[in-house]
Amino acid sequence: MGNLNWKFFQKKILRLFACLCTILDRLAWILRLYANPAEGKRPRVDFRASLTETIAMRQNLIELHHHLDGAFRCASLYEEAKRRRLPQGNLDRGIFCEKTTVSPSCSTLSEFLQTFYFFYEIAQSPQFMERAAFEAAEDMHNAGVIYAETRFAPHLLSTQEYSPEDIVQSVLRGLGRANKELGITVRVILTMMRGRAIQELHEIIDLYNTYKGIGLAGIDLAGDETLHSGREYAPLFNEASEAGIPVTIHAGEGTSAQRVREAILLFGANRIGHGIKAAEDESVMDLLIERNIPLETCLTSNLHTGTVQNISKHPVGIFLKRGVPVTINTDDPAISGITLASEWDLFRATFSPDTNTVQKILFTSAQASFAPDRTKEALYKIFPE
Ligand SMILES: [Zn+2]
Repeated sequence: MGNLNWKFFQKKILRLFACLCTILDRLAWILRLYANPAEGKRPRVDFRASLTETIAMRQNLIELHHHLDGAFRCASLYEEAKRRRLPQGNLDRGIFCEKTTVSPSCSTLSEFLQTFYFFYEIAQSPQFMERAAFEAAEDMHNAGVIYAETRFAPHLLSTQEYSPEDIVQSVLRGLGRANKELGITVRVILTMMRGRAIQELHEIIDLYNTYKGIGLAGIDLAGDETLHSGREYAPLFNEASEAGIPVTIHAGEGTSAQRVREAILLFGANRIGHGIKAAEDESVMDLLIERNIPLETCLTSNLHTGTVQNISKHPVGIFLKRGVPVTINTDDPAISGITLASEWDLFRATFSPDTNTVQKILFTSAQASFAPDRTKEALYKIFPE
């Protein structure tokens, strides 16, 4: 009996010890991230750049719709595939890289998605994600970006071995290093994928609450809206929005203006990812204007997924005319083979916006960012209303 009691006692102590280790480990991570936050005190703004130079789009850019998993460098993916002896690493490097980027003539969602299917397994490790986060920030820095929000679905990148929290921590660590070394501020939006269990959204909100002070900016809903409306997540998103968590919803990309209305009224969205179908309904455009809800516009991405057939027909022209707030972004820069600077070049070449329009878009980006007030104040100094 005494022996049994002792064994029971031993088991309890071991379990308590394991639990204590987990808590200490998590605490250590959080303290380390606090010491080196992704957010930085304020973006390292180049105040010497005049508005004309900024408009020339090589400085002081703001990126609000950027998927981290659409921004992996091909060379890094290839190296990782080789390091982990994954079958993709046996391919010739040139062929491998072709599979991670769409062709310039890509115009279907299925071709676009093929790239993700090819490389996703390679990215599923904290080591890779830390490296990828730093490199994505470096690529944005080189394209003239000073403030960005990047997003990813932690549950898609986690494995049996690594939890979604492991992935979030590694990304924040990579972005913290980028902030320290390059001065760029990149914050993180956690993405919930349509069609996944609602439990994941609860976990995403928990993760947001744990890491919000050290680089988490908000939450997002993404995934094919033609297959899943995602309406079942609306009450939880709306609750989160009312509790002060910034929310952006991918809506009205390839469906209808009604989805944009729902994102605002049911999900409590503060911003809309794409939302291009809003152009088909005057009342939805009015709603966006009345509530000052900006669209995260991604020109080349819309072309590559076949959502618009011709860039000159992109509804961003309609939105600007109607006064709907818009911002210019990349979506998946590595997959589309673009940068934010090249997207601005495309926008300016296609729509010939005047200086006031450009100024307005830049101000909208600063205002619509999910940044803390001190960061926004720094951005307003470059982009006054
Ligand atoms: Zn997107």
